[in-house]
Amino acid sequence: MAQEDYYKVLGVDRDASDQEINKAYRKLAKKYHPDLNHEPGAEEKYKQVNEAYEVLHDKQKRAQYDQFGSAGVNGQGGFGGGAGQGFGGAGFDTSGFGDFGDIFGDIFGQGRRQRVDPTAPQRGQDLDYTLTIDFMDAIKGKKTQVSYTREETCETCGGNGCQKGTHPITCDKCHGTGYMTITQQSVFGMVRQQTTCDKCHGRGVIIEHPCETCHGKGIIERKNAIEVDIPAGIDNGQQLRYQGQGDAGINGGPYGDLYIVYRVKPSKIFERRGQNIYTHVPISFAQATLGDDIDVKTVHGDEKLTIPAGTQPNKKFTLRGKGVPYLRGNGNGDQIITVDVVIPKHINEKQRKDLTDFVQDGGGHITPKEKGFFERLKDKLNGE
Ligand SMILES: [Zn+2]
Ligand SMILES: [Zn+2]
Repeated sequence: MAQEDYYKVLGVDRDASDQEINKAYRKLAKKYHPDLNHEPGAEEKYKQVNEAYEVLHDKQKRAQYDQFGSAGVNGQGGFGGGAGQGFGGAGFDTSGFGDFGDIFGDIFGQGRRQRVDPTAPQRGQDLDYTLTIDFMDAIKGKKTQVSYTREETCETCGGNGCQKGTHPITCDKCHGTGYMTITQQSVFGMVRQQTTCDKCHGRGVIIEHPCETCHGKGIIERKNAIEVDIPAGIDNGQQLRYQGQGDAGINGGPYGDLYIVYRVKPSKIFERRGQNIYTHVPISFAQATLGDDIDVKTVHGDEKLTIPAGTQPNKKFTLRGKGVPYLRGNGNGDQIITVDVVIPKHINEKQRKDLTDFVQDGGGHITPKEKGFFERLKDKLNGE
């Protein structure tokens, strides 16, 4: 489905104020609410209105939308095409749209405590799914299936909880508010207290003939399986939003979202920091002295590394572009290789003589050291 312009959906200008957006949304949400409007297409329109509102009433998301269009704020990645906005810390704050109370509260709620209309549409819960992936899959990327349990709108009754041909009726005890006021005599006088309506249990409506599939709840728990992306370059702790894959809303409210949280297993060979890979490679002191071409492992396969003659211990070499891919597709980070010069613990007599000659050739001279008391003790403890 082609993405509608969210401003057009709500019928407001691009520079509309928050109040104008709230007002337009209220009007349209009431107009197209599936319980009130049974015309074909009304439900689809209702969904679009909610989707547009979710983005435009949230400052951060509205700014992202203005900048990147719906790719900046919508699921199925929300990245790529230059918009990496779907990820991790720079991603979404869900706090802005979990609750319709602030809108409906000021329509229906009066008095000191704001009450949310129990029959108003409410967005479903967002869900988290932790996806543990292999180190190399996070580098190369792939697709995988995840399956989880979520609440879905009951298909039999369309979510209203009623048997076919019947409708919920407004609770006569609370007149649809879901709350009732009780007055009690106390030592301080009469005390008025608001409590949940005991006839409709706060729903504001009574279902006389409950749907047999969902027993009147309007929602059922079901396994949902979706294909998710492991984007090449994703890092531990980053997350991706899949819009509408969370729990069903109630009273016709939209589905919540699913957040896939990536957990990347560590590698035995590679250490990753951001987009760079760090490794150590052991070389002999002869290789360090004379130079050599060696094979080193990278996440992109084996590479040749030239060790120049006279390489010092802990020298770092950088292999440009051999690190982790950037999520936005602009190349890779680097691999940084530290050489560990390995000093042999044991050498034979010939090697000892050659080495001594080597030092003497250089004008130096060596007095093979008699081991002191502490070194002998250390050797003993080390079992040598
Ligand atoms: Zn049902
Ligand atoms: Zn009631």
